Amino acid sequence: APTVGVLALQGDVREHVTALAAAGADARPVRRPVELDAVDGLVIPGGESTTISKLVDVFELREPIDKRIAGGMPVYGSCAGMIMLAGEVLDGRPDQRGFAGIEMTVRRNAFGRQVDSFEAPVEVTGVEGGPFHAVFIRAPWVERVGDGVEVLGRVTDGPATDRIVAVRQGNLLATSFHPELTGDRRLHAYFVELVRAAA
Ligand code: GLN
Repeated sequence: APTVGVLALQGDVREHVTALAAAGADARPVRRPVELDAVDGLVIPGGESTTISKLVDVFELREPIDKRIAGGMPVYGSCAGMIMLAGEVLDGRPDQRGFAGIEMTVRRNAFGRQVDSFEAPVEVTGVEGGPFHAVFIRAPWVERVGDGVEVLGRVTDGPATDRIVAVRQGNLLATSFHPELTGDRRLHAYFVELVRAAA
């Protein structure tokens, strides 16, 4: 089984470890550079991107993660994790910094201007079996994508219709929503397959 780490600095780490294990991965938390060395792929969980950004520096993980991303390690970012993978962040804190892996502009807390959290069906390209029951919690959306970015999912109804909420660029995957909070393991299975293919 591919070894998949979950960046365990802040956020819903345990839920991702459980979901990854159910999807067939050898899943484990990653807090230290030596733990990062031992994984084939990494999940950056939902939480608070400003806090995760700070802790990435405190735990001396910024350069190691940048290097692994440059080396092709698959990374999946959910919500705050999506923000950590974005090249540009709108409504971010001036001192927050991500890994800039995906050529996209995300807006932090984008849906939150209307509602703090909500749920909606989202179809994800490449994942069969019908739409996800997507859970959004103070979520970002994607306002712009570069040429190399594949849009995998959009909101299909309500005030945020057509907003991009799932993307992939090479081995980097990001969603605005939280599949780890539902029993649906298809997105984690998709990511584990990506890690298996890249290893
Ligand atoms: N609003 C959070 C942030 O800016 C993300 C919320 C979440 O991950 N559920 O990082």
